Amino acid sequence: MARLGAHLSAAGGAWRAVEAARSCGCEALQLFLRAPGRWAAAALAEADVVRFREAAVSAGVEGLCFAHAPYLLNLASDDENLRDRSVVVLVEELRRAGRLGLAGVVLHPGSGGEGDRVSAEARCRAAVSEAVERAGDSAAALLLEGQAGAGGQLGRTPSELARFVEPGLRDGRVGVCLDSAHLWGAGYDLLGDGWERVLGELAEHWQLAAPQLFHGNDTTVELGSRRDRHAPPGEGRLGRRFFSKLLSDARCGDMPIVLEIPPGDGNVLVKKALARLRRWSR
Ligand SMILES: [Zn+2]
Repeated sequence: MARLGAHLSAAGGAWRAVEAARSCGCEALQLFLRAPGRWAAAALAEADVVRFREAAVSAGVEGLCFAHAPYLLNLASDDENLRDRSVVVLVEELRRAGRLGLAGVVLHPGSGGEGDRVSAEARCRAAVSEAVERAGDSAAALLLEGQAGAGGQLGRTPSELARFVEPGLRDGRVGVCLDSAHLWGAGYDLLGDGWERVLGELAEHWQLAAPQLFHGNDTTVELGSRRDRHAPPGEGRLGRRFFSKLLSDARCGDMPIVLEIPPGDGNVLVKKALARLRRWSR
């Protein structure tokens, strides 16, 4: 059975996201380690690390917690300054996540804008290697997330994502996160043969049966529109049909699935969406 959870607020400290996860009955958790639209982050005190780790054990989500890197990062930018800053922040995130015992840091690979795609991919590949090497052995894994593909975004497909990883990093230091809303926007018909194509590419290019993390978002956008808009499962085009298929797919047996939706007051919308998924998985 997949491990169901959500992206939850870490306002007031990372451990608070674990408390929220516990109150929502989450079996997996994603959080930001700094405000997603800001470069700067307050230092992570050792006391906060201990508090987080203890909370994760007692909430039963130890080893199933993930961070999402800030949206500002762009490893593929042709602006050297921005690229360097992005690597510095990514290294910090990977190390922080390692201290907290997280299973991975999710990253959007970046965008080459209007420029040449091949050079953008080469910049991204070099920056991924640099960040992972610099982060060191105690860092968490880097999980490259598939994108819908708007405005020169790189990494629309599992095979494209694999191009950012030098063969030497295929030792668990770099993995994949996929998002059903992004896959749909990227043109995978998840109600038709798209899901099999996704898993086929993962097997071929990553030697994986399932991604390390899945963002279980529904979406209201058109198939292949390259747009990215999240909706709670059952409130978009994917609906029960896709999510029931996902939840009963033996290849995704213990895969963590997190929702990225507006949580509502007291995370009421997260609780409602998780209850729906649990019903559909029976
Ligand atoms: Zn993301």
